[in-house]
Amino acid sequence: MSDDCLFCKIVNREIPSEFLYEDEDYVVFRDINPAAPVHLLLVPKRHIRSINDLESGHESLVGGLFPLAADMAKKEGVNESGYKLLFNVEKGGGQEIFHLHLHLIGGWRKK
Ligand code: 5GP
Ligand code: ZN
Repeated sequence: MSDDCLFCKIVNREIPSEFLYEDEDYVVFRDINPAAPVHLLLVPKRHIRSINDLESGHESLVGGLFPLAADMAKKEGVNESGYKLLFNVEKGGGQEIFHLHLHLIGGWRKK
C-alpha cells in the first residue's frame, strides 16, 4: 500500500469503483477514460510501481495477469474479435498511475 496511490485507494475501496472481477491478488475495473469500447485495467492488489520495479518473487503475480486477461476478454466478448494488452512503463511510456496495471483494450467495430 502506498498512501498517495490512486489504485491502492481503489483496491482498498477508499474510492468506490465497480469491480468486474476480484480475488485475493487482483482487481479488474473499467478505465474511466476508455480508449476503445472495451478498456479494462487489470491491477495486482500489491503496490508495485511499474514493470521496472519487478523483483524476484513477483513472477507469478505478474504472470497471472495473462490468463486473467484471457478470461476477462471472454467475459467481455472480445476474445474472438481480438484485443490488445498493454503495459505503459514510466512517464515516457505513457504511464500516469504508478501502480502496475495491464490494459485490456478491444471491441472495435468489425470491418
Ligand atoms: P497508465 O497511463 O498509467 O498506463 O494508465 C492509467 C489509466 O487509468 C488511464 O487510462 C486512465 O484513464 C485510468 N484512470 C485514471 N484515473 C482513474 C480512475 O479514477 N478510475 C478509473 N477507473 N480509471 C482511471
Ligand atoms: Zn498502489
